[in-house]
Amino acid sequence: MSELEFIPPAKPIIGQDERDAVDRVLATGMLAQGPEVKAFEEEFSKVLLDGRAAVAVNSGTSGLHLGLAASGIGRGDEVIVPAFTFAATGNAVALTGATPVFADIDPDTFCLDPKSVESLITDKTKAIMPVHLYGHPADMVAFEALAQKHGLMLFEDAAQAHGAAIDGRKVGTFGTFAMFSLYPTKNMTSGEGGMVSTGDAEVERRLRLLRNQGMEVQYQNELVGYNNRMTDIHAAIGRVQLTKVGEWTEVRRRNAAFLDAHLQGVKTPKIAEGAEHVYHQYTVRLEGFSVADRDAFGKELKERFAVGSGVYYPVPTNELPSFHQPADLPETAKATHEVLSLPVHPSLTQEHLDRIVEAVNTVAGAGA
Ligand SMILES: *Cc1c(COP(=O)(O)O)cnc(C)c1O
Repeated sequence: MSELEFIPPAKPIIGQDERDAVDRVLATGMLAQGPEVKAFEEEFSKVLLDGRAAVAVNSGTSGLHLGLAASGIGRGDEVIVPAFTFAATGNAVALTGATPVFADIDPDTFCLDPKSVESLITDKTKAIMPVHLYGHPADMVAFEALAQKHGLMLFEDAAQAHGAAIDGRKVGTFGTFAMFSLYPTKNMTSGEGGMVSTGDAEVERRLRLLRNQGMEVQYQNELVGYNNRMTDIHAAIGRVQLTKVGEWTEVRRRNAAFLDAHLQGVKTPKIAEGAEHVYHQYTVRLEGFSVADRDAFGKELKERFAVGSGVYYPVPTNELPSFHQPADLPETAKATHEVLSLPVHPSLTQEHLDRIVEAVNTVAGAGA
């Protein structure tokens, strides 16, 4: 089957509209943060945040870092985060000088487990930062109650969840701040970039200061800040993508529904009641698999059927050499062995979907 076209696990869609938008900005000669960034913030707020303020930055990681700093997180503070996520979640906490405390996940949604979080609250805990992993919203209703009960702030890592919602309420409108990544493999992109949402005017002001050397008025720096600005070139790409992300999400959902209906021998994604999933990843569970068996499964999909797949994430953040923070997280450990993400992106054709199903069902049947 070597003539089969490879189906990549992710594929950014960049078309003529994005190219034209970049050209338009280049033609003006004004490339740094300017009118395109301002327009992108306003449009993102309308389309994805029900009007909540949005502040554009140069990456999702910068967005988390500035959101935490603008919320007053720093040395001596603890922020509870999942270990089963991309390292940026914990990194951003550590970069402020605070300590990330790693909690376990719910085995059905792969998102942070409120019970595990509550067991880790100390007098140093300042905030909880769930991740809407794979595009499935974390249990924000439970986290709002928990934050209120213990007097904590609530933040959202919405890097993978543009447009996800709970009972019609969009992610990015729950926490003091939320961050959306605009990296090329995410549900929409600006090349590199991030968008931070906040409903708190003081946090918004500090975000705007921190991203630009602490300046609102040029050379009147009010605080020590960073250069985390987005360029107008990136914003122009993001503005075009924003007009398409809703339609792409619908295609992701249709692709997911097809896989749900046809895959056999693997555990397909569960959706919590009231949750609106945006399928950044379509992640199945290979129950009882070891790391070696799961990796062999992925290899066979690729070699026999040219179907790409991915493991998000093979190592819990607390076990990375950069952290080395021992923690007892049984569901996280199990997930790192058992998860496999299959292509679900909007560029898939019916032939691709049929091939993914044939590949998974064949390999799962053979391995049983
Ligand atoms: C991608 C991602 C980030 C970081 O975003 P960048 O734009 O790559 O800096 C943070 N958290 C999660 C969960 C992500 O998937």
